Amino acid sequence: MSAPGLFGFFKQRRRAALRAQPLTEEERRWVSRAVHLWPALPPDDRHEIEATSRVFLAEKHIEGAAGLAVTDEMRWTIAAQASLMLLHRDTDVFPQLDTVLVYPHGFVVDAVHRDGPVVIAGPERRAGESWRDGLVVLAWDEVARDVRCHHGGHNVVLHELAHQLDAEDGAVDGAPDLGSRARFVAWARVLGEEYHALGERLASGAPSDIDAYGATSPAEFFAVVTEEFYERPAVLRARHPELYAELARFFQLDPAALEDPAPAR
Ligand SMILES: [Zn+2]
Repeated sequence: MSAPGLFGFFKQRRRAALRAQPLTEEERRWVSRAVHLWPALPPDDRHEIEATSRVFLAEKHIEGAAGLAVTDEMRWTIAAQASLMLLHRDTDVFPQLDTVLVYPHGFVVDAVHRDGPVVIAGPERRAGESWRDGLVVLAWDEVARDVRCHHGGHNVVLHELAHQLDAEDGAVDGAPDLGSRARFVAWARVLGEEYHALGERLASGAPSDIDAYGATSPAEFFAVVTEEFYERPAVLRARHPELYAELARFFQLDPAALEDPAPAR
């Protein structure tokens, strides 16, 4: 057996042992609160999210910053939302992610944007960040607000972890690892069209149901529509059916059908 095979074997065995450990009542309550689709999920899916959450917590460092003491409730909330994104998918557990740094509040960064030839620099308020070197930064007040108010279409954990999925194929370009060239072509066509349509709507001053931040770059577009996919699936399916279908194929989940099994015609 080669070294990577041996390593993979031990990793699988360790994960299987973690997955077999049941959650306490309290942990189960935190997980169920963190995932707004929870009441609609079948028991097997709930169990998979619980089990993956335990693996996520065993393998990732979740650390407080700026004086925040991270509680178990915070850890399980973040892990549960991360695990929802892996449901039904034969994939690793965010292999590039090492540390989640949690700030008490949104933070201000010096941001630089390029808009054609114009470079705009200045302080910008952030709810989270995702870095290529295995770090995700979250503001706990934003995470807690997303848990309380599920239907705003926003979720900072899903957003930042979408960037991590995007990076798994080596490029943060709005396309995660889709498994085949044919899937990539379909993805690039649908998401490319929707991305350009969003930019045109915003440029003409028309209102948009997809957050304007998605027009910043294809990578931000994927992160923003991932939030919409889980947080407002029925709206996304009704207004952007092709986009919804691409996301449903990638995430192997049909959250609009779970939320509303028999939509009104
Ligand atoms: Zn982003």
